Amino acid sequence: MRLAERIQAIRPSATLAISAKAKEMRSQGIDVIGFGAGEPDFDTPQHIKDAAVRAVMEGYTKYTPVGGLDELKTAVCHRLQADQGLSYEPSQVIICCGAKQALFNAALALFQPGDEVLVPSPYWVSYPDILALAGASPVFLSTDEDEGFKINPQQIQEAITPRTRALILNSPCNPTGSVYLRQELEEIARVVREADLLVIADEIYDKIVYNDIRITSIAYAWPGLQERTLIVNGVSKTYAMTGWRIGWAVGPQPLIQAMAKIQSQSTSNPTAVSQKAAVEALTGPQDCVRQMVREFDRRRRFMVYRLNEMEGIRCYDPGGAFYLFPRVDAFFGRKAGKTPIQSATQLADYLLEEARVAVVPGEPFGSPNHIRLSFAVSMEEIEEGLNRIEEALSKLS
Ligand SMILES: *Cc1c(COP(=O)(O)O)cnc(C)c1O
Repeated sequence: MRLAERIQAIRPSATLAISAKAKEMRSQGIDVIGFGAGEPDFDTPQHIKDAAVRAVMEGYTKYTPVGGLDELKTAVCHRLQADQGLSYEPSQVIICCGAKQALFNAALALFQPGDEVLVPSPYWVSYPDILALAGASPVFLSTDEDEGFKINPQQIQEAITPRTRALILNSPCNPTGSVYLRQELEEIARVVREADLLVIADEIYDKIVYNDIRITSIAYAWPGLQERTLIVNGVSKTYAMTGWRIGWAVGPQPLIQAMAKIQSQSTSNPTAVSQKAAVEALTGPQDCVRQMVREFDRRRRFMVYRLNEMEGIRCYDPGGAFYLFPRVDAFFGRKAGKTPIQSATQLADYLLEEARVAVVPGEPFGSPNHIRLSFAVSMEEIEEGLNRIEEALSKLS
């Protein structure tokens, strides 16, 4: 069959692929411990589920406005005001089928062939492909653990060409867990403004932070930045609601309107019932978030300690999100059988076969020297999984 050229330009989501492979091995009765999860292992809190049941009974079973219920847009504005001190009108909000659709709508509304978009690397797997679907080119700004996986303003300045349109900033970051602090954001914001760029601020992990870090949005960090920032967020990670598919974007009204136009010709509104559940998530009690973050924090501290104890591993201690991104290139050239391991992908394959542990190789995040381990996994599995990893790694020489 003849398929469109744009299909050649993209890859299927690699993180979803590794979870599928682990699931398949498990269905064959093989006991695999999966560190691949890109979603909280907790159930959606009860009061949110109850709100969804009420919504069904109250008849929220029809189309809503394309860009979402006013009630939910208002709830998003209230949270941004209360949590970050940012003022927005509901007309500056669009509700989408997940943050991913918000990013996709934004890319289609903003970019065209020839446009360049700055993407700090390691990056979330979907950015390059979403940009490719819009015909735009990612320009990667590389970082590593020595800089806390954070870009500096000079890197932006050096990468700018007349075609540069925007910067995608993901803080806290998936996969590295790095978090930009207020002063770092101010410095980046100043360069962004001078160069007349837009910022797409993916803040999907903004409530999952450790060590009492205070989260600031880049929209807040510098005068005039709010007018050139699109904030993307959603309920998936904060409230363990990945399957409900509710995310949003908040920013300049002309851009929000353009995104709604695209959404009106693709998915129309996100699911009505899920929107009502998201209203409850944002306006209801927030202790559920604190409880989940406390548990993530306990796992984070244990895993960072255990991994850094292992010979050959160097693991950055993340300030947010629920992933570790340890450096594993010390193992390249070592072997257990005949062929030496030469990449993160080969190491991940080795760990799956030898240790029955699923980790995600760093390549699809832009780093061949790292692997990603999620700690959205129970403490028992973490303990057992890390023991297996340690044993398998010790067989390499
Ligand atoms: C999970 C994730 C998303 C997408 O979230 P959905 O709202 O479930 O679509 C976007 N950005 C990053 C960095 C993520 O990790």
